[in-house]
Amino acid sequence: MDNPVFDLNLIKKYNVSGPRYTSYPTALQFTDDFSEHDYRDAIDNSYRKESTLSLYFHLPFCATVCYYCACNKIITKDRSVALLYLDHLHREIEQQGALYDQSRPVTQLHWGGGTPTFISNEQMTELMAQTRAHFNLYSDDGGEYSLEIDPRTVDREKIALLRELGFNRISLGIQDFDPRVQQAVNRIQSEEQTLGVIEAAREDGFLSVSVDLIYGLPHQSTASFAVTLDKINAMSPDRISIYNYAHLPERFKTQRQINAEELPSPAEKLRILELCINQLKSYGYVYIGMDHFAKPEDELAVAQRNGSLQRNFQGYSTHAECDMVAMGITAISNIGATYSQNEKSPDDYYSKIDQGQLPVFQGAVIDRDDQIRKSVIMSLICQFELTFSDIESKYGIDFQQYFQDELQRLSALAEDELLNLDSKQIVVSSRGRLLIRNICMVFDRYLQVPQFSDRFSKVI
Ligand code: SF4
Repeated sequence: MDNPVFDLNLIKKYNVSGPRYTSYPTALQFTDDFSEHDYRDAIDNSYRKESTLSLYFHLPFCATVCYYCACNKIITKDRSVALLYLDHLHREIEQQGALYDQSRPVTQLHWGGGTPTFISNEQMTELMAQTRAHFNLYSDDGGEYSLEIDPRTVDREKIALLRELGFNRISLGIQDFDPRVQQAVNRIQSEEQTLGVIEAAREDGFLSVSVDLIYGLPHQSTASFAVTLDKINAMSPDRISIYNYAHLPERFKTQRQINAEELPSPAEKLRILELCINQLKSYGYVYIGMDHFAKPEDELAVAQRNGSLQRNFQGYSTHAECDMVAMGITAISNIGATYSQNEKSPDDYYSKIDQGQLPVFQGAVIDRDDQIRKSVIMSLICQFELTFSDIESKYGIDFQQYFQDELQRLSALAEDELLNLDSKQIVVSSRGRLLIRNICMVFDRYLQVPQFSDRFSKVI
């Protein structure tokens, strides 16, 4: 796989808003017509009924707020609030577990947030025990069991416990090591703290360590971010994600604490992105796609090379498509040809569970056209290429006829050398890799509806 080429003129030309395609259709297409009844039907009718399961748990609490954050979280220093939430989450696990065939192994499990490590060691132990009681979890490293860690909330003992509970992959939020940046975004996290967690994870036998950085934060410059990148490289994580900070204070209240005058200019931001791409390449990381880089021997890079890379709500994954059961507030499940999202507020979530209902809030049924487009988009975003005959044999269509309009629109992108297009395939060029969302957007039929097109972040 070639690394992406940073082409400033193309990036300026194509830097519009667009979906991240962790699902297709995206959550904007979910409606409250989708009910608990539809969710239960989806389980019975899933074309993946014989497949393995992927489980997601949303743990929304954080002790302090990071000003850049756009996640759905609950900020509190009162650890006791987690008690009520976990009590309901345990009940949801029991309800959901009863709906699935107990022989289906859980090949993927993830705790996201919020800050999953906000909860106590005892609460983590109980949550995993409840999950094991109702789902078929591996007792060895047969599954990909991961969680997001805030290094400020863990010690060696907690890391060791997580390994003992069955987790084998961790993802650490870092964002930037520069103290001025950390101060401006209210996330003070020392290098020692972060390194301590990575070393503890390696000693305890975690199989993969991934770190998250953000570019575009206050006070960042190419010079300052180059220092952070060098420090990250010295820690040698298996995967690095570098996210673009989108300053949208009118949408996300906490971002109003960020002084817009301290943000890098759009031109400097692009230079930081260029620096990231060149630096990570020089360290030996390969580009997976979107915001993700990995060591060439990492399983994501291997999966991309052998064509088995997948994309779901947790980003890229190595596991074959399977039904995804997501629990906790706001969590989105993907069962068969449906998406289903849980209630977003704790009170609504508690109320449904207290009434013995599943906490389904909204969702969508993926029709045949969605399914075809989803396959096209996922192939492009994971493999950077698409062979028409693969889609033709899977769905019984004539690709060039079905996507006549899309192929016409794609030819403009081909002229700009974002991709090579012939009568058999689409191959994304090194120049087009950073703009993969733009290429996928051509196949997204919902973007033709104006009110949906400006609800996403910029592609770069
Ligand atoms: S970035 Fe993470 S730790 Fe910070 S407020 Fe958001 S969810 Fe919480």
